[in-house]
Amino acid sequence: MGNTLEAMFALQAIERQLADIRGQLSSSNAAVSAQQRRVDELHQRRQSLHDEVLAHQKDAGGVELELKAREEEVNKLRAILNSTKTNKEYAAILTQLNTLKADNSKLEDRALELMQEVDQTHAQAGQVEEQISQAEKLFEQIKQTSSEETTRLRTILDDLQAKRDSAAQAVPDKALKIFDRIAALRDGDVMAGIEVLGKKPPYHYICGGCNMSLTAEHANALRTRDEIRFCDCCGRILYLQKPESVQQV
Ligand SMILES: [Zn+2]
Repeated sequence: MGNTLEAMFALQAIERQLADIRGQLSSSNAAVSAQQRRVDELHQRRQSLHDEVLAHQKDAGGVELELKAREEEVNKLRAILNSTKTNKEYAAILTQLNTLKADNSKLEDRALELMQEVDQTHAQAGQVEEQISQAEKLFEQIKQTSSEETTRLRTILDDLQAKRDSAAQAVPDKALKIFDRIAALRDGDVMAGIEVLGKKPPYHYICGGCNMSLTAEHANALRTRDEIRFCDCCGRILYLQKPESVQQV
């Protein structure tokens, strides 16, 4: 490998570690965000159960009021019943009274149902409250762990960054620009070794990054020249892995 490719290869090793540490940092942050979402969802659930309780209580209040009005009606009809003069009149009022009582009985059932719903929703809200307390506890733990992890990873990152800066100095400007451009595009995965397949010529060459075939021209050029060549398929910068290994296979 020529000097430029050698320097880029060293830079690539550091660049990969940098990408790995950046990935770990973002996973650590993602864990915090995920638990934050869980806590938020539980708070919303608690709010909607609270709203549900209020709505049931309001409905139950309405039914109670209606029942009271109807009971007054029943009392009125009873009074009228006692002062009826004819059997026909008595029978008619009695029918009215019985219908009203039957309706009232249904309303009483409905009021009971609503109160049961209030109790059930209260119980659910209690469970959610418990879940919130656990989720918030876990959230604090995750935040704490993540914060420690972030501090640790940032130290490694700073150290790697310094190493990268130093390794970058060995790479000529033009080559470094190309390297940086691909590093940004490919998340630090800039270079790929040419893999040589076959026991004797003509060898078959593939890109170690994307496994696609390469022309022999790339390998031939890199055997004698220190130049930047790209995989025709994935665009990674190619390097030749130990030429002696070709003779061994
Ligand atoms: Zn490739």
